[in-house]
Amino acid sequence: MSDTLFSKIIRREIPADIVYEDEDVLAFRDINPQAPQHVLFIPRKPVATLNDLGEDDALLIGRLVLAATAYAKAQGFAENGYRCVINCNGDGGQSVYHLHLHLLGGRRLAWPPG
Ligand code: AMP
Repeated sequence: MSDTLFSKIIRREIPADIVYEDEDVLAFRDINPQAPQHVLFIPRKPVATLNDLGEDDALLIGRLVLAATAYAKAQGFAENGYRCVINCNGDGGQSVYHLHLHLLGGRRLAWPPG
């Protein structure tokens, strides 16, 4: 996988508003928030897209989701609701090729997405 903006954030080479981290996962506020709460959860492991996950990554993707849900609960918007989104490749609207889960909350979100 080629180096991305998010690898640079993991290595602290560029700044980010980091709100959570553990040994597998890093989370930081999206620079262009689409909701009052918009946080990106990324694996430290360099995985480009959902298509690149293998059986060995089952625990990792679980940890990513659990980190996001724990954050929503800790911030107090889990009860009202929120959305977790992982865009994949061009048709999915992916722009950064380091897997990331968008956690969006703090307002009523429209459905279906555009
Ligand atoms: P996606 O379109 O799913 O690949 O999402 C990429 C997200 O990364 C977008 O929501 C961008 O606003 C966000 N983004 C890009 N650069 C940065 C950055 N330096 N810090 C935080 N978020 C970023």
